[in-house]
Amino acid sequence: MAECPFCFTELDERATVCKGCKAQRGYGNHSTLGFMTAGVVRSRVSRYNTYAVLWSLVSVGLIYAWLGAGVKEAALPLFVTVVVAVVLFVTARSWNARLQKPPTWWK
Ligand SMILES: [Zn+2]
Repeated sequence: MAECPFCFTELDERATVCKGCKAQRGYGNHSTLGFMTAGVVRSRVSRYNTYAVLWSLVSVGLIYAWLGAGVKEAALPLFVTVVVAVVLFVTARSWNARLQKPPTWWK
């Protein structure tokens, strides 16, 4: 058994909402996502991983096209393309990092 830290109601070990005071267990509030349950965080991780993989595939096509066209000014778009891919992967990793800690109670 677990205990709500706010109202001390006895709760199931896996409970995510306190039946006494409606406190929620998760990863806090997000400005646009609202309260973040583990499921919300996991869906963010998978979304950014998907974006990163898709962008990487697009990048390979773009780089191939730019190099194939012999564009001399390709350095900047190549750089931006790679930076965007890295940012997407890093964003996915930082969302995943939240899940390394157990969820806590919020009210
Ligand atoms: Zn409670």
